[in-house]
Amino acid sequence: MLDQLSAAITPEVRACLEGALEGKELTKEDAERLLGATGMDFHALIASADLARKRDCGDDVSYVVCRNINFTNVCYVGCSFCGFARHKDDKDEAFDRSHEEILLKCKDAIERGATEVCIQGGIHPNKDHHTYHDILTAIKAVYPDLHIHAYSPEETDFAHKRSGMELPEYLKWLVDAGLGTMPGTAAEILDDEIRDILSPNKLKTDRWVEIIKAAHGIGLRSTSTLMYGHIEKPRHIAGHLDILREIQKETGGFTEFVPLGFIHERNLLYNLMGSRPGPTVEEDLRIIAVSRLFLRPHIKNIQVSWVKMGHKLGQMALCSGANDFGGTLMEESISRESGSEHGENTPPEEFRRLIRELGRVPVERTTLYKTVARFEDPELDPPSLEPEQKEVDISGPGRWRKKLEAVQPAVMPVGGLQ
Ligand code: SF4
Repeated sequence: MLDQLSAAITPEVRACLEGALEGKELTKEDAERLLGATGMDFHALIASADLARKRDCGDDVSYVVCRNINFTNVCYVGCSFCGFARHKDDKDEAFDRSHEEILLKCKDAIERGATEVCIQGGIHPNKDHHTYHDILTAIKAVYPDLHIHAYSPEETDFAHKRSGMELPEYLKWLVDAGLGTMPGTAAEILDDEIRDILSPNKLKTDRWVEIIKAAHGIGLRSTSTLMYGHIEKPRHIAGHLDILREIQKETGGFTEFVPLGFIHERNLLYNLMGSRPGPTVEEDLRIIAVSRLFLRPHIKNIQVSWVKMGHKLGQMALCSGANDFGGTLMEESISRESGSEHGENTPPEEFRRLIRELGRVPVERTTLYKTVARFEDPELDPPSLEPEQKEVDISGPGRWRKKLEAVQPAVMPVGGLQ
């Protein structure tokens, strides 16, 4: 029976998978082929990528305790897939956080165990390069050890043009003020045919590459991302992955690759322009698997976006080639404003539970993938640092409608039956 299943894998896909597992570099054409894998080809792709993940990273699954801080949602770039941006005169919904507010969010993050804050915002027409520099200076004056992961290539493009400096000089100026790493967002699809439809006013592919290479060139590392599931074809994704792989061969500056599924509910791209309504489950898993096989050995860490996928599909992605569960986030507005319903906060204890459900070992890491703690034994887990939880409202028959703390010990030992 299993022989029949194996025999159903098409020879071309079999050759790609065997080659990738033997360490052969996949071509763009191979990636395109694998991005269309269905049936047994799909299952073989997933199994091969999971095996590659095990060889490349072992069975540890990492996560980072971090907090997102979006300092403004005012933005005039006008990306068609964005549900987050507001006009500056939109009194009810536009926000522009003061340094005091940002520092309070940093304080809360540290009290909840964060090692990183991720700071990004809209492109506010009244701001300039000093805005970005001053936020870094303000945070580092109070929290010198907090890692600041901040400012996408789009924000860098905007502020750099206003600075009058050379690009490496501008980036160095930010690093000296406390910038630790750069999010490789604003990449969407690195193909101007697609970018001109998604975001005609946004930086072009060449400029994205220029900024990322300049960052890596001064020792500033970055993530790398992809947004898929809208109007792109497999060839666009294959081309995007190829650009990232070539950059990584040259600079070694990417810490990870994070595929981001398009959230379609509340934006122009789906509702007025007729894009696809985000990726299917198969697409989500295929992208994870293909990126593992295509990017190895150059980019080792493939990250799951639980905000886009949710926890259950995120677990599946961790069995399809991914090795990192991303960040706790604590607050998240960009996906939520576009219609994501997967929440804003995954506390560390929840990451550990989800990872252990897969029979894998949870590891808290820094932004740069240094191990903070490896949690082999659940008995030794630290207590939760989350703010006090709301009382759980239990519905059902009256005799069960009591407080959870009172009921649980009488029914089952904490931790379940042994
Ligand atoms: S995606 Fe970013 S740059 Fe584009 S409109 Fe939204 S906030 Fe602005």
